[in-house]
Amino acid sequence: MSPPAPPRHDTVEVAIPVPLRQLFHYRLPADLAAAVVPGARVLVPFSRRAVVGYAVAVGTPPPEGVRLLKVREALDPVGEPTFAPPLLALLRWMADYYRAPLGEVLRGAHPTGINAKGVPGLAITDAGRAAEITGATGAALAWLARQSGPSPVDAVEPPLNAGQIKRLVDDGLVVRESVIAAPRVEVRTERAVRAVAPPPTVPRGRGGKPLKRDALHGWLVGRGEVLVRDVREVFPSPAAHLKQLIDEGALVASEVEVIRDPYFGETVPRDTPPTLNAGQRRAVDAILGAPGYQGLLLHGITGSGKTEVYLHAIEATLAQGRGALVLVPEIALTPQLVRRFRARLGDALAVLHSGLSDGARYDQWRRLKRGEVRLAIGARSALFAPVADLGLIIVDEAHDPSFKQGDGVRYHARDMALLRGHRQQATVVLGTATPSLETEHNVSQGKLRRLVLTERPTGARLPQVHIIDLRVHKPPEDEAPFLSRPLREALAETLNAKEQAILFLNRRGFASAVHCEACGGVLDCDHCDIAMTWHQGRRHLRCHYCDRVRPLPPRCPHCGQDHLAPVGRGTERVEAALAALFPQARLARMDRDVVTTTRKLQAMLGQVRRREIDILVGTQMVTKGHDFPGVTLVGVLAADAGLNFPDFRAAERTFQLLTQVAGRAGRADRPGRVLVQTYDPAVPALEALVDHDHARFAAAELPRRQIQGYPPFTHAASVRVDGRDARRVEQLALRLGGAAERAGANTGGTRLQGPAPAPCTRLQGP
Ligand code: ADP
Ligand code: ZN
Repeated sequence: MSPPAPPRHDTVEVAIPVPLRQLFHYRLPADLAAAVVPGARVLVPFSRRAVVGYAVAVGTPPPEGVRLLKVREALDPVGEPTFAPPLLALLRWMADYYRAPLGEVLRGAHPTGINAKGVPGLAITDAGRAAEITGATGAALAWLARQSGPSPVDAVEPPLNAGQIKRLVDDGLVVRESVIAAPRVEVRTERAVRAVAPPPTVPRGRGGKPLKRDALHGWLVGRGEVLVRDVREVFPSPAAHLKQLIDEGALVASEVEVIRDPYFGETVPRDTPPTLNAGQRRAVDAILGAPGYQGLLLHGITGSGKTEVYLHAIEATLAQGRGALVLVPEIALTPQLVRRFRARLGDALAVLHSGLSDGARYDQWRRLKRGEVRLAIGARSALFAPVADLGLIIVDEAHDPSFKQGDGVRYHARDMALLRGHRQQATVVLGTATPSLETEHNVSQGKLRRLVLTERPTGARLPQVHIIDLRVHKPPEDEAPFLSRPLREALAETLNAKEQAILFLNRRGFASAVHCEACGGVLDCDHCDIAMTWHQGRRHLRCHYCDRVRPLPPRCPHCGQDHLAPVGRGTERVEAALAALFPQARLARMDRDVVTTTRKLQAMLGQVRRREIDILVGTQMVTKGHDFPGVTLVGVLAADAGLNFPDFRAAERTFQLLTQVAGRAGRADRPGRVLVQTYDPAVPALEALVDHDHARFAAAELPRRQIQGYPPFTHAASVRVDGRDARRVEQLALRLGGAAERAGANTGGTRLQGPAPAPCTRLQGP
């Protein structure tokens, strides 16, 4: 055996974002060696293109006999690799665990904007913001401070020469950043006006009082460009006056860009922390108690003050100079949560959400990395936020299925959060009222410690839950054939008492399908094998999978007769029926058809909180942690829809959703009640719901999972074959199944199911 080759330091192993589970070797020129460290981005030649890759290991011996190509460029500054070593290690582990190409994992773990072609730019640092410098350099710094991210060097006002820039960089007041050439920025334009000339002499109003128009003009003088929206705050209905002043040449109108972040649009007053109750105190002490890694389950009923526990623990973590990361299921659906964080902890937090432009996201990312901001909040992908000196990770609503990534690298952010905490010596808290059965299992295995919160600190009682058996309480066959009498009466009582109600139905649209009463045929999506949903308001059919729409055909495509009729129901139909049944009630509908932006959601949440809405109808959007003090009634229209879903987690998911929506009732002084309509009352998920008894649900469901061989007692992996040609897909699936079996997939502890057609066999087809 020959001795091992001496280490070579002029090579680098690079992960490239292509669907290959292989690394590639390149030669590393000496002048790039300082910047090209593991975790740094590099520009390398790859199949006759230049692509962005990620240095993974330096100095590893390349395979024999290959001619190495040269790294073209180092893309990260010296000492600032895109991925710091702990994060790189986590992502390597993750790629391995999920059998995903490392390059794709890494590309998915940083803001996309940074890989775009950049031009040289400058960004101000916190030191730069604080610096007091006069003259042109000072003016340029002030200009940079007004920009929302790095700016191209050429754009700086007044212009800086190379020497001035170098001095600013050396003093740490600005940093060089490349600016993405065409940033996808969430810009909106709004109309603004600016005073340019004194108003022409005009006759005064009677009695010598200045005219409103003159007052308006006087107010505008010296203010520069003012948004018409802001003018309106001071001078109601200014349109006619503005028009006249513009016609007279006293004002010029323009469209100005306004970049607005839905989470930081308004200032939030600081709040005073409440005194924690004993359970909360114990929880906070446990979270802060042990240095290093610990995995905790914060199991608290809805409204038991879990968020307060997070806030206390984060505040203490930040005070120790460490960073914290908060993962939430869907940040867009919980604007209130960000508000609470800002009220308690101030604005030094990075909210990572999909509405951010590439530039803004990159900016947040860099500030976290440098430790200028130590707290990040976001959905699943925020897991990779480069929070410096991470001390605490919170996974809020940890049971929520959206933590599982559904395409690309299919990681589970809850599990990876635990892993990240473990590797970085940070405490991880999974907070929920309804722990997933995997989490329950981990508690019983001693991998997680359970902290419980059993009461609502506000003194509010949990709502009474009543199951309404629809076989007994058959709904009348009128305009609302889905509302049983008990639920109607409860709605009427609630309206009479000037209280509010929520009706939950997990299906949007008007009718869940349109079928032909002559032949029984259903109108399916041409591209997916699923029924299209009828949207009455927009008068079209929409596929809820691929989002394609089409008009209602005049005749049935199957039999040619004109007996098409809507069947089933969605939130839109429920809303219409309620309007007929309770004409005096103020209704609102909360689903993805109506609430298309965070801003609209915020507006609707505000209306409900201010009691401008009597009945809110909605999909699972209404189940999120909203706090509506006036809601005393929650109606669940069809519990069975979720229970009958073909998924081994259907019962668990239904229990979680119904517990969440039930938690919206009676959060203030008035007691709440929850009415659940079902055809099948004797299932554990509903029985446990009545008693708010998660343990009882888990005790019924876990043995069933064990007997049937499902997680958490087994690990399940699904192999899905997609393709355009159904026959070839089937053949490949059968071949894979055969190969798996020959490899021992049905021996020992493993079991192979299928191959079988997917529940939805055609999705997004041609
Ligand atoms: P969860 O996150 O478990 O749903 P929250 O933290 O939102 O619960 O608390 C529910 C309500 O109780 C909120 O209005 C919150 O301000 C209030 N609250 C929480 N802890 C306390 C406390 N210790 N004293 C008084 N009110 C509290
Ligand atoms: Zn479709």
